Amino acid sequence: MPGPSHLNVTPRPADTAHWADWARNQPVWRWPNGKKVAVTITFDVDAETAPYALGDAYVNKPSRLSEARFSVVRGVPRILDLFKRFDLHTTFFVPGWTAEAYPHVVESIMGHGHEIGHHGYVHSKVTDADVDAQRDEIERGFDALVSVGVPRPTGYRNPMGEMSFETLELIRDAGFHYDSSFLGDDRPYIEKFGDIELLELPWHWSLDDWPYFGYDGDFGGTPQPATAWYEVVWGEFEQARDEGRNINIVCHPEIIGRDRGRLDPDDVRAGPPCRADSPRPRSQPTARRSVVTFEKLAIGSLGGHIEQRRVPTPNPLSDEAIRFPLRLIEVQN
Ligand SMILES: [Zn+2]
Repeated sequence: MPGPSHLNVTPRPADTAHWADWARNQPVWRWPNGKKVAVTITFDVDAETAPYALGDAYVNKPSRLSEARFSVVRGVPRILDLFKRFDLHTTFFVPGWTAEAYPHVVESIMGHGHEIGHHGYVHSKVTDADVDAQRDEIERGFDALVSVGVPRPTGYRNPMGEMSFETLELIRDAGFHYDSSFLGDDRPYIEKFGDIELLELPWHWSLDDWPYFGYDGDFGGTPQPATAWYEVVWGEFEQARDEGRNINIVCHPEIIGRDRGRLDPDDVRAGPPCRADSPRPRSQPTARRSVVTFEKLAIGSLGGHIEQRRVPTPNPLSDEAIRFPLRLIEVQN
């Protein structure tokens, strides 16, 4: 049939029926210990792989590369200190190149008890690569992580925010227990394309630090005040609590780990500004930029009683209920 290929795309009843059924049935999640909402704050430790993935020209851009290196030099150590202070554990997605270049960083992340997920080898945009190159990217990612002592990851987050249908097959064949690359729901769900099914822990740009704070010398950006990010995440948290679901925050250490992430500990002890017993009104989360953002997100904005709990990784497709294989940060309301 002549014409643009998108004109030849027709609905596939087997797939659309799946999503119609999913929407109709509205499964209910039960979080451990009767908690009303689950929060994960995850980190992508891209380091220099992020500019490398933009093209060969970036191999010869040492200034841009140094900006990305901030991730492992300053960002990760700050995050590890913060999570240690509050006894929280989470998931870091690490490209294989980062692990090979900075094995001490990976060692430190694991030493603090965090999970490490697969994030490609050099953060390649898979839609620009053929199947063999994609397979190589995934296998090199595994090999690099394992070579520095990481247990073979069970979770995958696709670099650059896109996959191809061939990638789906590779991810399935690699035996991952879960994926965190899609955006089809704001709860854990089964992502399905044909006969491929993946347990999905979805993300969205609205809960990603890059759109708020990222700036690139070539592509620009519109950095926001920290309060804007805080308002969005807090709003999402409140809705998630009302709906009994989870939120998944995606951060990059070179972004969130800069000084806007610092927080006055006294302010943490004062409690989040939006709690009912807080003297600050809902519309004025804080007047002090320095006390908002990362630590506020991690601690202050998520409620006064935080626990972390390791949930065993299930086999998602044989489990009757979808469960959350990441380490959970649970919030008691
Ligand atoms: Zn990344």
